[in-house]
Amino acid sequence: MAESLVVRVPDIGEFEGVDVVEVLVTVGGRVESGQALIVIESEKASMEIPSPAAGVVESLAVSLNAKVSEGDPICTLRVEAEAGADAGAASQATERPAPAPAAPAAAPAPAPGAESIEAELLVLGGGPGGYSAAFRAADLGKSVVLVERDATLGGVCLNVGCIPSKALLHMAEVIEQARALAEHGIEFGQPKLDFERIRARKDEVVSTLTRGLDRLAEQRKVRVLRGLGRFTGSNELSAAHARGEARVRFGQVILATGSRNVELPGLPADPRILDSTRALEVEGPPGRLLVIGGGVIGLELATVYLAFGWRVVIVELLAQLLSGVDRDLVRPLERRLRERCERVLLETRVASVEAGPDGLHVTLEGGGAGRDSFDRILVAVGRRPNSDGIGLDALGVRLDERGFVPVDAQLRTNVQHVFAIGDVTGPPLLAHRATHQGKVAAEVAAGVAASFDALAIPSVAYTDPEVAWVGITEDEARRRGVALRKGVFPWSASGRALGLGRGEGVTKLLFSEETERIVGAGLVGTHAGELISEVALAMELGADAHDIGLTVHPHPTLSETVAFAAELVAGTITDMLPPRPRAPKGGR
Ligand SMILES: Cc1cc2nc3c(=O)[nH]c(=O)nc-3n(C[C@H](O)[C@H](O)[C@H](O)COP(=O)(O)OP(=O)(O)OC[C@H]3O[C@@H](n4cnc5c(N)ncnc54)[C@H](O)[C@@H]3O)c2cc1C
Repeated sequence: MAESLVVRVPDIGEFEGVDVVEVLVTVGGRVESGQALIVIESEKASMEIPSPAAGVVESLAVSLNAKVSEGDPICTLRVEAEAGADAGAASQATERPAPAPAAPAAAPAPAPGAESIEAELLVLGGGPGGYSAAFRAADLGKSVVLVERDATLGGVCLNVGCIPSKALLHMAEVIEQARALAEHGIEFGQPKLDFERIRARKDEVVSTLTRGLDRLAEQRKVRVLRGLGRFTGSNELSAAHARGEARVRFGQVILATGSRNVELPGLPADPRILDSTRALEVEGPPGRLLVIGGGVIGLELATVYLAFGWRVVIVELLAQLLSGVDRDLVRPLERRLRERCERVLLETRVASVEAGPDGLHVTLEGGGAGRDSFDRILVAVGRRPNSDGIGLDALGVRLDERGFVPVDAQLRTNVQHVFAIGDVTGPPLLAHRATHQGKVAAEVAAGVAASFDALAIPSVAYTDPEVAWVGITEDEARRRGVALRKGVFPWSASGRALGLGRGEGVTKLLFSEETERIVGAGLVGTHAGELISEVALAMELGADAHDIGLTVHPHPTLSETVAFAAELVAGTITDMLPPRPRAPKGGR
């Protein structure tokens, strides 16, 4: 017979709230007795926490960057009967004093026996920015060492960001589509959710991609060093790992350390309060969820939880969801969220949270003031750069007032041989920006004349409906006094959108009055994220409304709405009345 064993943090001396710097196991994975589960690190030392028994990891209670103290749960193991007997003894073993701390995390002098490595180019951080930089530099003939503290490459995006969230959002979309078909005369039964399999599917997508990265690194002869990197000199980094330390001497370096969740001060330490990483480990049975933060990450996860049957309240401090996006684009999303959520509270702040055995009791102030209780809280209030604690002083790199690393168009910092890319360089915090910057930094480091001067970096909220935008917004144009001509095509006039039952969408294109070129766009509607790339290309190529309108789009597609919005500006539209006819450039 199998039984569950909760593995907890053992006695770790005087330390409290110690950082989890590596999570070495995944849900559904098998571990052996004594195998390391996590690596924790204080200011003085790092240490592995071993598994007290062999078994299969049922759930994880910690995530990367979490803070843990003695007695905190690490994971639940499913152990077999004989192993269970073992487990009893082993769980007592977790009461024993913790193993002696491993190598110091930031030893100023090389530890005896530290491995010494030389690299032309060091890349610190193996997220989308870091691995792209490392791979491109290797392709350009550089000897590259990539240092990553996590067990897998891929950073936030692959492991706990873009990829797992989109795997879950796909499941959510299918559930919602099946539900919506009832209005079209087709009814399915209530979905039966097996959360263990849902998590396993998500993890499988992630591990397929991260394993692929390991192979690509190997094929390119990029040396991947697992360890927590810290600069100890202008050309030297110490990479501390559970089994020791390596010293890397490098000629150039690319900082790609990314970002982490911002914590909301004053919240109790309670496993029912989740950050985005923990929220991706969706659980059942569904209860009530409070989402703090109406930005992209909060709303995407709210979309997942709603589809999985959770009752959701969203609270946002500002007057608008997705702040920074034009109000007309947010409205259809907000309307749908108000239909699906219990409440969407704007201009509201969480004043306090009390953790009780029966739930998390929340006091709200502002527009939606009141008290309410929830089974889980998701805190999604932003991200901050991983620029602290990595020894940037030793490199001489300056930070801005928010801790981001300023860079020029060649991605150089204030220090000639030090480049920085991705989230650590500031907003927009997006994976595709990080990868493009990574390639440019690698090229510049290899002596290629390159610069990061993208006109258009599209953003997408993979909500239901999706919201996608690129370039200037109308609000921003108003603030900056930029004169615009706009074409707004309502999807209620799109045959394809109506066939999908999603006529609430809008496609808006913005053209400069002065140059007539496209300078921005925003779309809201199902799969809007797939449509924005065309506009990004149009911006990069300097297209005007006639160029886009004269490009033949397949019918009936949602992509036609881009052409129709352009035709509205060109004055050539026939599917609606043109607001202000204009002579076409070349005629049809
Ligand atoms: C829930 C969620 C969903 C998201 N969805 C999207 C999306 O759909 N599309 C999108 O474009 N973006 C999305 N993002 C943002 C995206 O994940 C980030 O913009 C992207 O990962 C940034 O890449 P990066 O390489 O700069 O940094 P990261 O991905 O943060 O990688 C940095 C790496 O550096 C390592 N590291 C840090 N310090 C050290 C050190 N001292 N030593 C060794 N290694 C170190 C970290 O372990 C990490 O692996 C999402 C984020 C979240 C949280």
